[in-house]
Amino acid sequence: MKIIIIGCTHAGTAAAINTSKLYKDAQITVYERNDTISFLSCGIALYVGGVVKDVRGLFYSSPEQLRELGINTKMKHDVLDVDFDNKKIRVKNLETGEEFIDNYDKLIITTGSWPIIPKIEGYELQNILLSKNYYHANEIIKSVENIQNVVVIGAGYIGVELAEAFREKGKNVTLIDTQDRILSKYLDKEFTDLAEDALKKNGINLALSQTVVKFEGEDGKVKRVITDKGQYDADVVIVCVGFKPSTEMFKGKLDMLPNGAIIVDEYMRTSKRDVFAAGDCAAVWYNPTKSYEYIPLATNAVRMGTLAARNLVDNNIKWRGTQGTSGIKIYDLNIASTGLIEEVAKGKGLNVQTVTIEDNYRPEFMPTYEKAKLKVVFEKETGRIVGAQILSKHDLTSLMNIMSVFIQNEMTIEDLAFTDFFFQPHFNKPWNLLNLAGLSTL
Ligand SMILES: Cc1cc2nc3c(=O)[nH]c(=O)nc-3n(C[C@H](O)[C@H](O)[C@H](O)COP(=O)(O)OP(=O)(O)OC[C@H]3O[C@@H](n4cnc5c(N)ncnc54)[C@H](O)[C@@H]3O)c2cc1C
Repeated sequence: MKIIIIGCTHAGTAAAINTSKLYKDAQITVYERNDTISFLSCGIALYVGGVVKDVRGLFYSSPEQLRELGINTKMKHDVLDVDFDNKKIRVKNLETGEEFIDNYDKLIITTGSWPIIPKIEGYELQNILLSKNYYHANEIIKSVENIQNVVVIGAGYIGVELAEAFREKGKNVTLIDTQDRILSKYLDKEFTDLAEDALKKNGINLALSQTVVKFEGEDGKVKRVITDKGQYDADVVIVCVGFKPSTEMFKGKLDMLPNGAIIVDEYMRTSKRDVFAAGDCAAVWYNPTKSYEYIPLATNAVRMGTLAARNLVDNNIKWRGTQGTSGIKIYDLNIASTGLIEEVAKGKGLNVQTVTIEDNYRPEFMPTYEKAKLKVVFEKETGRIVGAQILSKHDLTSLMNIMSVFIQNEMTIEDLAFTDFFFQPHFNKPWNLLNLAGLSTL
């Protein structure tokens, strides 16, 4: 069996390692256009902020490791086209310029995503940067070395993390977003208010409810960002307004969502026989809404890549769906969310009810304790839980992993009230915070 994997970061690495273990006699080839694999982009902000000292720590695999597994690992090779009917791909060796055809029995597409680049006048100026891969990380570090003013466009997870990291390095930081609050897809307002306070208290300039219309420069370098409401000095600009799937070459050939995310079934099979897709290039089945959504996360990518390998020959293990569970640390606030926030749930027409509780996470007789804020979103008629968020100075983020399990298994707010959780004063109260949220709705 001849297996080809296109693209090798998280989904590709998972697919490659698993196929090599599962199909000992297979001939496996990986084509990757860069010369690195498995870079953890989530470490970029930590690298910028100086928490991660050695960027090499942000890789967990390497071309050499894949070769040791017997995988024919072709770095600096760009796949240009796929002929699904004849099971052939056209590849360009980026070092020699040579183009050639290869053929497969099974194909795994893990081409990932690329940052959305808004059409803004002046975008071609120097020092307007993206934040996606290893090369971007190095470029960012180099560009901010001797400058003062950084503007980050896009207040999602990546933008917020970068804003904090630049501020930690003593830069003047402005964070711009068209929405009226940060992290507006992941957290409801009562949570983002607290997170915004933390950013502002630490000197980050929030420029919300405004849209960038123009970049102005001097000597070919960016100097100012102009929005519909103001202007901000900028020696470096980081654009992080979202991602789109890298699937242009499959358009019209594979079933996709309107944004180009490849639709896969629960076994990671695309609409073409023997062709699988995984990771940021694909849509995911989202349990809270029971629909396909685009949720580019490393967590989804590694699970999907593993499943593509496992299901390559037979339908073995099904995708359980995702809740898009995610976490972020903003200064001393530990925040996580899973599933739908109230605002998004209502926007999608779901008839939801919510419960928000605030309590100390452990008994007040303990030497220290911290307040926690927990919100659960559930369907009014059925009680089915569809989302949850938590924020505390104490790290309670793993409670959102529990809530993820509740959503995945279609459990209700009543289940939450009476599920057995342990009690020990070091860690919690006799009624766990999750129980309390459930109980207070009965
Ligand atoms: C700054 C940042 C922070 C993040 N933080 C988190 C986090 O904390 N938690 C989390 O879960 N997720 C996080 N993510 C998201 C996560 O990084 C992505 O979901 C993940 O990288 C997806 O992996 P992937 O393998 O599907 O795609 P990608 O990482 O996009 O990799 C695709 C690979 O395919 C290659 N490729 C594409 N087209 C071709 C072609 N035609 N030929 C050859 N090679 C090709 C590319 O070069 C690339 O190496 C973050 C992302 C960023 C940018």
